[in-house]
Amino acid sequence: MNYFRPCISAMKGYVPGIQPREAGKYIKLNSNENPYPPSPLVEETLRQFSYQALRFYPDPLCHQLREKLGELYGLAPEQIICGNGSDDILNIIVRTFIQPGEVMAFYEPTFPLYRVLGIIHGAEIISIPVSAPYQDFPDPPPAANVFFLANPNSPLGYSVPLSQISELAQKVTGILVVDEAYAEFAKENALSLLTHFQNVIIVRTVSKSYSLAGVRLGYALGDAALIKEMFKVKDPFNVNQLTQKIVIAALTDQEYYRKNIACIVTTRDWFTQEARQLGYKIIPSQANFIFPSPPRQGEGRSFYQSLYERNILTRFFDEELLKDGVRMTIGTHEEMELTLQAMREIIKKY
Ligand SMILES: *Cc1c(COP(=O)(O)O)cnc(C)c1O
Repeated sequence: MNYFRPCISAMKGYVPGIQPREAGKYIKLNSNENPYPPSPLVEETLRQFSYQALRFYPDPLCHQLREKLGELYGLAPEQIICGNGSDDILNIIVRTFIQPGEVMAFYEPTFPLYRVLGIIHGAEIISIPVSAPYQDFPDPPPAANVFFLANPNSPLGYSVPLSQISELAQKVTGILVVDEAYAEFAKENALSLLTHFQNVIIVRTVSKSYSLAGVRLGYALGDAALIKEMFKVKDPFNVNQLTQKIVIAALTDQEYYRKNIACIVTTRDWFTQEARQLGYKIIPSQANFIFPSPPRQGEGRSFYQSLYERNILTRFFDEELLKDGVRMTIGTHEEMELTLQAMREIIKKY
């Protein structure tokens, strides 16, 4: 007896980066985590949290949190839905807007989870490969019920200009999802499109920009009619009590957040220049990571391995369009000094 759905048996599954137990041993640049702690207001919130409250279910609709987000973005709470990380949000989107057999589409390389969610759901997947210089994007397939655009792109870090996203929103017949997991590190974002397009959903997360990958909170912004249907699909209590409180605290401390982001952007731009001078090729990045490649093509795996041997963790993706380099998160300035030193030694091999 084969108990499994054929589509699950045939699929690889999402592979997260290594999450080592001995945290101190490595310079961890493999999951695009923020190298700095969350706001001190988060610590304060945790200290004041009463464990007795845990016997109650959390607010299923995240009222306070959605109001807070609404203030921040100038949107009504009805235009916002929260999830257990943006992974949860992406899953809700797939299940709300794609009938099994209908089409999910995206450009590749992109965030690998879209495909995994699509396969599990029984969607037809149309992926459109794009390669450097990442400027002229082909039209989306006419049949796409949902088109996913990770912008800034993961794992490459480049950003599609707003004017082009706007064109894409016009061309996509279904929903255009702009996954802005890294938008806080970028010069532009697609928020303004929400006023012009009813078929655009923007997905954000506090995992990277607010140093809160561990609490799991993502959200979607969009037309109230779309968001309303997504509420029907989500798990009833998908965001726990602590997460709701912690995220409100973090969002309140905008000054801390702004300094944090500015610091990472400065380190990113400095590091990119230095690594280029060593001879690495790097696509200009608008995110909190870069995608450096050694001068010799097809050496991403050996580059990954050489960094790993020096206790520096990055991500290598064994795919045709990604095999020249690795994805490397921007850590603290000190961590990136050490990484640069390692890269200075490593490049002699190439
Ligand atoms: C990190 C990431 C996510 C997932 O974020 P979570 O909120 O931690 O689930 C979604 N999309 C992209 C492009 C990402 O890089």
